[in-house]
Amino acid sequence: EEDYDIVVVGGGSAGIAAAASILKRRDHLHLAVVEPNEDHYYQPGWTMVGAGVFDAAVTRREEARLIPKGAHWVKAAARSFQPDANQVMLQDGRRLSYKVLIVCPGIKLDWDAIPGLAATLGRNGVTSNYRYDLAPYTHRLVKAFKGGRALFTQPVMPIKCAGAPQKAMYLSCHRWEKAGVLGAADVHFHTAGGVLFGVPDYVPALMDYVERYGINLHFGSRLVEIDGPRQTAVFERADGKGTQRAAERFDMIHVVPPQVAPDFIRESPLAAASGFVEVDETTLRHPHYSNIFALGDACSASNAKTAAAARAQAPVVAVNALAALDGRPPAAAYNGYGSCPLTVEAGKIVLAEFGYGGKLLPSFPGWLIDGTRPSRLSWLLKDTILPPVYWHGMLKGREWMVRPQPIGA
Ligand code: FAD
Repeated sequence: EEDYDIVVVGGGSAGIAAAASILKRRDHLHLAVVEPNEDHYYQPGWTMVGAGVFDAAVTRREEARLIPKGAHWVKAAARSFQPDANQVMLQDGRRLSYKVLIVCPGIKLDWDAIPGLAATLGRNGVTSNYRYDLAPYTHRLVKAFKGGRALFTQPVMPIKCAGAPQKAMYLSCHRWEKAGVLGAADVHFHTAGGVLFGVPDYVPALMDYVERYGINLHFGSRLVEIDGPRQTAVFERADGKGTQRAAERFDMIHVVPPQVAPDFIRESPLAAASGFVEVDETTLRHPHYSNIFALGDACSASNAKTAAAARAQAPVVAVNALAALDGRPPAAAYNGYGSCPLTVEAGKIVLAEFGYGGKLLPSFPGWLIDGTRPSRLSWLLKDTILPPVYWHGMLKGREWMVRPQPIGA
């Protein structure tokens, strides 16, 4: 058994940011990061990889280089929790004791929920920007496309980066437009949802692009099966008369898989009804265990699941975790901030930034960037500014663009 002041489960965007933020505030703590993987990914870069703007390699770094100085890397997967005993059990049989626990193992991509999908990913024109090894295949398919039917899918919410299914589509269409093949393309967007984007303010700008690119929208339409060799996808749609199934042929399809809470979280005493780690939306503290916090994609808060949200959550969790360690109540509040840079064409972005309840929370004054309109400056942000902000700011506990607010402010 190993004893720590703080144990962080997950060394992804949220885990490294939270650990760094805590150690920046108090450097002599005994803190462990539990993370089984040797690689860490900047997933927001995968949209750019799919578009051929970034090399896949720039989105990957060694975990060993990112574990904050002073933190102990426990290279193993967490298996279960015993919150009443303040212990985390690991896959390898070890157990860790903690005074404060921070849970952030991300979201599970449920590729197997769609029969036929796993077997054909990376072949037969079936791709997804949701995997490091597949995003370059998106680029290859889009470059080789000379016309035909292209399908883009979006599953039931919540998913990480709700805009990413559309981003892949707009960037593909833009390339085809420039190459003069868009006229020969039959493009369809199948979304399980009922709207193009959850915050209405951004929809008009997106609709302009849907019209410009000639995209056919199918709402309430869910991918349920795929036959790679026959290049056929089956969609299910509920209407007044019941559920209809329809098979559609494709030349290429970009699939975004259904996403759920990781199994070991869903089955744990920490889970909310949704399966994600239950938290108070403001303090990010567990409602029943006052020394447990969660952030990132794995927590139950209703914010947009994005790295941008994790960037805003990390200092809040840091402040409140240290308060818990000192026996004080939480002091910092999270307003639900999340951001989704919608790449509507290569060189322009509709920069969605919003908090709980869809409240717009722009980082920049309207004269500089109007988030509801396509902007070149926003593309510059995504293309050149945000990656270094991620690696050298967020993951180092330097809070350049976020300040935790006091509760009630
Ligand atoms: P992750 O970064 O996924 O990290 C989870 C970590 O937990 C992983 O390292 C994993 O190995 C580890 N883990 C899993 N199970 C265990 C276990 N049992 N024990 C210990 N550790 C475990 N966000 C934006 O802000 N802007 C964007 O433009 C954007 N675009 C995106 C585009 C795509 C294609 C994708 C896939 C994501 C995008 N995101 C974007 C979302 C963003 O990447 C995630 O929201 C963010 O990474 C969440 O951080 P996290 O730490 O919760 O999860």
